[in-house]
Parts: sequence; C-alpha cells; structure tokens
Amino acid sequence: MTHRPRNLTPPRWPAPHTSAVALAFDLDGPTGSAMLDGSIWRRPSYFALGGYGPFRALPRILDVLGEAGVRATFFTPAWVVETWPDACRRIVESGHEVAHHGYRHECYYDLTVDEQVEVLRRSQRVFHDVLGVEAVGFRTPSGDWHPETPRLLVEHGFSYSSSMRGDDRPYLHRVAGVSTCLVEIPARWDFDDYAYLAYTRNPDYPVGQDRIAGYRTTLENWTREFDGYHAEGLCLTTLLHPKVSGKPGRILILERLLAHMRSRQGVWFATCAEVAQWWRDSGQGDAASGGAGAGQPLPAGDLAGRKCA
Ligand SMILES: [Zn+2]
Repeated sequence: MTHRPRNLTPPRWPAPHTSAVALAFDLDGPTGSAMLDGSIWRRPSYFALGGYGPFRALPRILDVLGEAGVRATFFTPAWVVETWPDACRRIVESGHEVAHHGYRHECYYDLTVDEQVEVLRRSQRVFHDVLGVEAVGFRTPSGDWHPETPRLLVEHGFSYSSSMRGDDRPYLHRVAGVSTCLVEIPARWDFDDYAYLAYTRNPDYPVGQDRIAGYRTTLENWTREFDGYHAEGLCLTTLLHPKVSGKPGRILILERLLAHMRSRQGVWFATCAEVAQWWRDSGQGDAASGGAGAGQPLPAGDLAGRKCA
C-alpha cells in the first residue's frame, strides 16, 4: 500500500528521477563539548570512542558506498581534517563531498558573530590547504544556530545548509523576509543513528537509557522512512555518524538499506551540494512553510540584491 497525499505538490527532480536521496554523515570524531571545554584530554578512552570514526569506521563506510556506487556528503569539523588528513583526503578522492561542521564542533548558538566568522574562515583554510577544496555546505553542530548564522553563510559563499527540521522538502532561507540563495536541505532525527545506536558509559549517553536498539528494528524503521519519502517524491537526507554506524555489525544495516533504496525505480542519489544546485537551477524556491523557524528578524543588508550563482 502506498500513501500518496493529494494536497502536496511534490518537488521536481532531474528526469527520470522522482525522489532524491542525499546520504549524509557527520564525521565528528572526538570533537564536541568535551573537546571545547578541554576535559577530553583527561579522558583517553572517551577520545578513542570518537577517534574510532575517522580512524576505523570511515574506511569501512567508504568501501560500502563505493560498492553501491552511491556518493555522499561528509559534514566534517576541520579539526578532524587536520588530525586525519589521509582518511579525509580519501573522502574527496572517492568522489564524495566534504562540508562544514565547525572547527571543533562549536555550537553556533553560543558564538558571537565574530567568533562564527572565525570558525568559518579557519575551517575553510584547513579544507583548502589539506583537501584542496572549499566547503559549500553547512550543517550546524549541536543542533541549533545563532539568529545571524544564515546571513553569515550567504555572505561567505555557502550554497546550502542542512540544519533545520521543519520540512521534508528543500527550501530557500529567508533573511529579514528576503529570499536568499541559501538552500536548506532539512534532516530529521528519525534518520539520526544516535537515536537508535549510540551508547556510552561514564558519561552515560543517552541519559537514562542503557539499551541499544535492535538492528533489525533500526533497518526496518529506516527502510520505511525511505519508502515514505520515495512515495511522496521528497528528498531524504541522513544524520549518520561513522563512529556509531560504521562498526562491523552495524555496517550491514547501511549495506541493506542502500540495497533497498537502489532496488526502487526513480531514486536520484546525489550529494547535498548537487541537490542544492538543482533546487536553485530548477527555480523551486521557497516552500511556504519551510521558512518557519529559519528566517529571523535580521537586517537584510545587501542580501536582496545578491544573485544566486
Ligand atoms: Zn556533529
């Protein structure tokens, strides 16, 4: 049985495709709050938990993606690029996209404008020097951003964000009521592997929960989520973390999920940057409800006159 709502106009995708999958990984490594407050340097086992991602899990994920012929986006703090340069170069060499996710996974909500600019510029320098690319995509670390972040992203040449949750279609961000060139590709917690598979002790995470979800259940949930997106012709992106999903048993979940997706007709597998480019080029613009929670009462500055590249 397939649910096809009558009152939603589905997005358009490059013919003959009828839906899109922009597979995305957050290659956080050991960055995050424990690194930002310095406590991680007194906790080697916690560091190793994160370092497992770029060190051990990433090659496994790249192998699976290569075998499936699917390219993906890796939102990567620049500190991880500096620390594991060869592993991160392999992402680019394999045809995948590397995109911005802070320098050390800073929470943009807590940063001043100047601090945000410094993190953006510093990270771009690392990407340029180590990988030979610059990021065009942004996913805000730690879940939320500062009211002025979208304006800063436009001003620094970013073409898209994948940070919001309020829609299941891409849309253009508005700043002070002005539609900008910045495409939002919303991701959902439903496709965050932390919600299913993350587990650590001391500190306990998730707090109050001490079980890992069944792998069969996880695969079934993600398969059904994809089926729903495909049926409605939407764009599915993911919040997967190599250190969580790139383990020997769990990689089979990804392998089987990709096999299921590839068995369906009309799925466009693309990087987030390609989805954003298509969204602008095809002129699909705003989703009326999509700007909710994204557009903030900000000074528009010169944004109104800015042309989309
Ligand atoms: Zn992250």
